[in-house]
Amino acid sequence: MGRYARVVVKLSGEAFAGTAGTAGTGTDPVCLAGLADEVASVHDLGVQTAVVVGGGNLFRGRLAGSWGIGRAEADDIGMLGTVMNALMLWGALTARSEPDVRVMTAVAMQSVAEPFIRLRADRHLRRGRIVLLAGGTGQPYVTADYAAVQRSLELSADALLVAKRGVDGVYDSDPKTHPDAKRYEHLTYREALERSVKVMDTTAFVLAEEQGLLMHVFDVAAAGAMAAICEGRDIGTRITA
Ligand code: UDP
Repeated sequence: MGRYARVVVKLSGEAFAGTAGTAGTGTDPVCLAGLADEVASVHDLGVQTAVVVGGGNLFRGRLAGSWGIGRAEADDIGMLGTVMNALMLWGALTARSEPDVRVMTAVAMQSVAEPFIRLRADRHLRRGRIVLLAGGTGQPYVTADYAAVQRSLELSADALLVAKRGVDGVYDSDPKTHPDAKRYEHLTYREALERSVKVMDTTAFVLAEEQGLLMHVFDVAAAGAMAAICEGRDIGTRITA
């Protein structure tokens, strides 16, 4: 085992989408299998592993206006998207004969998943089960980023591993439009907030800073990155309070 005994991994919905094309929408079986490999490789190290699953590949509540529907309903739809992704990941992990994988949802959905109960999630993790956390916080007007920080704190994770799609850390400017953009190896939340870097929701960052959470931001497509970070390598960007 490496430096962390327990981690929460944040997988954005885009991580489930194919790379061909590509607006980061829909789901792709190759990406799904890759995600299962990465999560399993962390668990194989003996690290207690929970995964907060996003749903932006399927629906985002902040697009409510363009669909002509209310924000609260749109957020419910977004939360259901996270459950779809989590069930897919459950399937892919279970097909690999991982020991035991549980899906827990913040939105009550008894016939497809367990309800999220903090102490029960904690027990699953202590027993070596991979826990997939879906439905975000169960509340509208926030995102899966906020849920990832909140769950990391609730479950006393040593670190939150934020897997991004298409970028391998935090940069001082957008690397897609600025070829000379520099990647930070380390950053504080204060610096990130002051420089308005777009990594996560501001609300998630504020909570992470306030509670002193340790976070790593890295490229989801970099095979082995999650496990390497757990073993002690600082891949991507490390963010601390
Ligand atoms: N969502 C929500 N409450 C939460 C988490 C998510 O209402 O606690 C909704 C929100 O509409 C969001 C959507 O679910 O846009 C999908 O989650 P998100 O966009 O955060 O996923 P990601 O960006 O990680 O793919």
